[in-house]
Amino acid sequence: MPDWKEKIHCSFCHKKSTDVDKMIAGPGVHICNECVGLCGEILEGEKLASSTDPRLPVWETLTEEQILEHLPKIAAVQAQVDDNLRDWVGHLRGRDVSWERIGGSLGMTRQSAWERFKSET
Ligand SMILES: [Zn+2]
Repeated sequence: MPDWKEKIHCSFCHKKSTDVDKMIAGPGVHICNECVGLCGEILEGEKLASSTDPRLPVWETLTEEQILEHLPKIAAVQAQVDDNLRDWVGHLRGRDVSWERIGGSLGMTRQSAWERFKSET
């Protein structure tokens, strides 16, 4: 099994790509077929009950414990996005693309891009 398959998690439910049938990639994030199915059900439910508010629960409706439980999930997605960004920057460095161009793409200086990504390339 390729290494990257073990590394990729669904950004929504955090299941490994090896534990689901399909994983769809976005910019630094992934979504599994199960979460896509759930999204389909939510959208379908909205069509049937259009009077319900489709927005996600806001902080005011959550207890402090619920908010605390949510933090590591956000941190895990952030780590995955950071890893993915490093991989993409690494590929560019492998093509001898300058730090100036990489920094420009990310809206940062050449120096900032180098400091952030140098150890991975
Ligand atoms: Zn998922």
